[in-house]
Amino acid sequence: MEEKIALFTIFGGTGDLARRKLYPSLYRLYKKGFLNKKFAVIGTARREWSDEYYREIVLDTIADLTESKEDALEFASHFYYQAHNVTDAEHYSTLKQLSKKLNDTYQLEDNHIYYLAMSPQFFGTITEHLKDQELISDTGFNRLIIEKPFGHDYESAATLNEQIRASFKEEQIYRIDHYLGKEMIQNISAVRFANTIFESMWNNRYIDNIQITLSESLGVEERGGYYDTSGALRDMVQNHILQVVSLLAMEPPIELKDEAIREEKIKALRSLRIYSKEEVQKYFVRGQYGASTVDGVTSLDYREEKNVAPDSTTETFVAGKVLIDNFRWAGVPFYIRTGKNLRQKGTQINIQFKSMPLNLFSDDHTEALEPNVLTIYIQPTEGFSLQLNSKKIGPGLETELLNLKHKNSAETSSNSPEAYEKLILDCLNGDATNFTHWDEVAQSWKFVDVIRDTWDQETPEFPNYPSKSMGPVCSDELLEKDGFKWFWNPKSN
Ligand code: NAP
Repeated sequence: MEEKIALFTIFGGTGDLARRKLYPSLYRLYKKGFLNKKFAVIGTARREWSDEYYREIVLDTIADLTESKEDALEFASHFYYQAHNVTDAEHYSTLKQLSKKLNDTYQLEDNHIYYLAMSPQFFGTITEHLKDQELISDTGFNRLIIEKPFGHDYESAATLNEQIRASFKEEQIYRIDHYLGKEMIQNISAVRFANTIFESMWNNRYIDNIQITLSESLGVEERGGYYDTSGALRDMVQNHILQVVSLLAMEPPIELKDEAIREEKIKALRSLRIYSKEEVQKYFVRGQYGASTVDGVTSLDYREEKNVAPDSTTETFVAGKVLIDNFRWAGVPFYIRTGKNLRQKGTQINIQFKSMPLNLFSDDHTEALEPNVLTIYIQPTEGFSLQLNSKKIGPGLETELLNLKHKNSAETSSNSPEAYEKLILDCLNGDATNFTHWDEVAQSWKFVDVIRDTWDQETPEFPNYPSKSMGPVCSDELLEKDGFKWFWNPKSN
């Protein structure tokens, strides 16, 4: 295994993301031998912590993963803390000195990964100072990992991008969309490009519609303040869902490498039909959860959640029909759906094939057979299933549905690398395949902005779905109008 060499500087080193995701992911990479002797981590935030205290925190975050205390202590000894207010230019010189020292101590070859695990309002300031204060090295690599959200509309995203690009080149920027780190999302390419039966049918001649559901069973919990200014459209559709759409819709790339895949994803996103106001009203619906009591468990009304405005019109649910105006997909609706406080947690993609033109198994040949449906389960369980028609055992010619299913065992799933672990390793390898390029971000915002603008001009009647349901009635009606229904309709947990 090739050892990776780098100095990580984590801005927001005391924060939730760093503790819950980044330190455990770095530890897993360490355990697997990708990180060995030649790595160091600087954690930085305003809090005045000592190195010792910081290491204790790091040890705490990996407590469930460690087998030997010695090993954990050795890992934590690579961590250093620097108190720093990112708006204060002075502090970057202290940071630079520490970087230089660690670079020499651990022989890090001037390889830098800057991870901005903090509010996007600081991204521009940090990158500006990193450049001004000459923290960007000339010899090793300099990579910048940034968290979502990348802007709140096209304009703000473009401004942010300009600020960052003043210090880092596009190929040095790794915009995280943690969905792209998921094993089964990466598996979409395998389903399509490693199986003749699917790729040959992956078009409007054989596919009737595609459904993508990202369903969350929890409400906003502690994130009410952030969520109320964002909503499901910006929080889930602009990034995760449109990324999944682009992976499903793109043309086969010439190779499975970052540049080639991005090129095709960008082309797919450019083919998204940007809606008029009237089309938004026809093709997109929104919802907000209301209180409910199911199985003795009471859920709050969204407007009663902590840090949420009592008259909030923020949507906690979105469903929509996405149309892709190109030769492969003309006429095939991609239905998308995401929401909070829904009946069951899960992400799945259902590819519904066209029904047989004639049903030889019914007396007058008119009653439609059930369609074949390929389902890709993304989370919590990973796997596939394929719905087929088969003949019912016994006399007569009745058919019944058969489901070929492969779900990864809990053990395989738990061994599949955590998204952040995969993404950090990709960044260490300089592989940007599973990060979003600016052109993808820009195109996604352009698609989402018209929906937002249309919605912002109207006052919705919220709440319009009870918690622990699968969303508002208008979401079912959206498909019914086209003669379809949501394939995934969990009854209860
Ligand atoms: P958080 O817990 O609020 O952490 C923010 C960090 O920024 C803290 O370490 C804070 O530490 C530091 N900070 C704030 N102001 C600062 C300043 N002026 N100078 C230096 N440090 C400052 O936020 P988070 O949940 O970790 O989220 C970080 C980013 O990741 C956000 O962009 C978020 O949208 C994104 N994200 C988070 C998650 C998640 O699961 N948490 C998931 C996806 C994306 P001090 O108070 O000590 O300064």
